[in-house]
Amino acid sequence: MTSVAPAFRNHKFSFDKGELGMHENLMTCVNGLEISEEIRVSIAAQACLLVVNIDTWYDNLTTVLVYPGAFKSRQTQHNGYVVVEREIVRTGESWSRGPVILSWTHSQQGAANDTDGHNVVFHEFAHQIDDLSGRTDGVPNLDPKQKYSDWARVFDTAYKKHVRLVQNGRSTVIDAYGAEGYEEFFAVSVEVFFERPVALKHEEPDVYEQLSTLFQLDPSSW
Ligand SMILES: [Zn+2]
Repeated sequence: MTSVAPAFRNHKFSFDKGELGMHENLMTCVNGLEISEEIRVSIAAQACLLVVNIDTWYDNLTTVLVYPGAFKSRQTQHNGYVVVEREIVRTGESWSRGPVILSWTHSQQGAANDTDGHNVVFHEFAHQIDDLSGRTDGVPNLDPKQKYSDWARVFDTAYKKHVRLVQNGRSTVIDAYGAEGYEEFFAVSVEVFFERPVALKHEEPDVYEQLSTLFQLDPSSW
């Protein structure tokens, strides 16, 4: 993460003394994983990068659960009178007004390779930022300089194009998982914004511009 060091000069990065780090109980490890300084610092640093230049904070977040690796999560689907439950394997999860759950193995991979476009910490904390507006729907609270109509137009156009490309088996700079819904499209766009900013700016300049204004950052210049 050396390439982003200048952005960390902001006061919010004092995570080991304040904010994320001060709440000792905020981060909890489970399944035999011991909480360490490395875990705390690595996850907090990645989470702080999203909000380093803006006044937004993770107000809804009370717990970050860290598993050693991928974890099983129970998903319930209501189908008429039938409730179907299944277990799926996940690397990260973000609950509305609830915890962020992360696989430490995958959180480390996201930090170690900061150009592959994948970062589970950015992804789950992007959901938390989205959720601050009251709904996790791909429309976060915008910067005063942004118009909701512009955001909707840009993201709606880009999302629909993305869905078409994914359905046609084409790969794009934005991960195919973004086709799952507007909220996932936002979260994977945030991953790419920080990890492959030049490619995103080239392929989806309007999306890049909206995210750049939202976060008050221009990673393509780092
Ligand atoms: Zn997601």
